[in-house]
Amino acid sequence: MKCPVCDHPELRTFFKVDSVPVFCNVIYPTELHATSAPRGTIELGFCDRCGMIYNTAFEAERVEYAPGYENSLYGSLRFLNYAEGLAERLVTAFELKDSHIVEIGSGRGEFLDLLCRHGRNRGTGFDPSVSERETVSHNPSVKIYREPFSSAYQDLRFDLLVSRHVLEHIPEPKPFLGELVSAARRTHDAGLFLEVPNALWTLRDLGIWDVIYEHCSYFTPVALRALLSEVGVHRTKVVETFGGQFLCAAARVDGQASAADDNAGDLADLKMWVEAFQQKFEMETKLWNDRFLSWKAANECVAIWGAGSKGVSFLNRVNTRNTVSWVVDVNPRKQGQYVAGTGQPIVAPEMLRAAPPTRVIVMNPAYKSEVESVLCALGLFVEVISV
Ligand SMILES: [Zn+2]
Repeated sequence: MKCPVCDHPELRTFFKVDSVPVFCNVIYPTELHATSAPRGTIELGFCDRCGMIYNTAFEAERVEYAPGYENSLYGSLRFLNYAEGLAERLVTAFELKDSHIVEIGSGRGEFLDLLCRHGRNRGTGFDPSVSERETVSHNPSVKIYREPFSSAYQDLRFDLLVSRHVLEHIPEPKPFLGELVSAARRTHDAGLFLEVPNALWTLRDLGIWDVIYEHCSYFTPVALRALLSEVGVHRTKVVETFGGQFLCAAARVDGQASAADDNAGDLADLKMWVEAFQQKFEMETKLWNDRFLSWKAANECVAIWGAGSKGVSFLNRVNTRNTVSWVVDVNPRKQGQYVAGTGQPIVAPEMLRAAPPTRVIVMNPAYKSEVESVLCALGLFVEVISV
């Protein structure tokens, strides 16, 4: 297939993994529902012209976002602090006072609420996975529509358009972003802010559990810049945030075209990471399988912390049978539900007091110290390891 960003005719396959859950972030009400969850194949292709990575085995019709899709991270203090800092910086950078902010993929409106509180702004969110028309914070300045942003809203005027962790789910990111940029251009000098997972972190820092079926697109910094350039937003600064795990791009959509970026050095580094990835993925998976074998032999009881993308992905690749009986998640909407594919129950941290584990594996290194504090407050002094 051709590159969805630069139309280069060939994406070179460098990684394949079979039988992964189609949805990591759909929660299942019973173990049987969870273990019968649909599965798919991931086959990552790399564009050596623009640095884009795409799952060429992705079947868009299998992924439909509806209520029951739950990926809010706002239960974590670490994530909340990050989001608050980001909202403050955006309000300052785009001079948002008494302004109107539109967010695509707003969830229940947690981030819009922060943006509105910081500058007496109004917010409008669009998200088909929200269960009912609601504002999370009872903030009357935030309104959420339970549908995708579409041409029906072309008269909507706003000062900033935000889209966080949406673009990686979109099968054709170029026309999608093109529409958003056109909408932003209808309001003179509107701003645009994008945030996506950083595929360079996945490749370079072995964030291998971030490779999930829901994500058809994997943006490296060069690929995100290239995509913005393709839709007429040039020379955008793309920065790594959240310990390198996210990429952020903030721009004014009225910027003038200029000379192309020189990406040669970035692309050469990327090729190196891409070529090594499948082997590193296998080695990392084997390492964890060996660890779990020895813990099983020693009759250890291990708890996994985090039933989001990384946790579900990990549980479906590593054999944790008879060793992991519980998966902890601070999101109350996940508690009482079951992990896609493997079917372990998801519980609140307090449940660990009933049967203290011998060790806890944290699925995201960014949350390790927060998890240690929670365990300490529960009176549980166990070894905490992050993947
Ligand atoms: Zn390309």
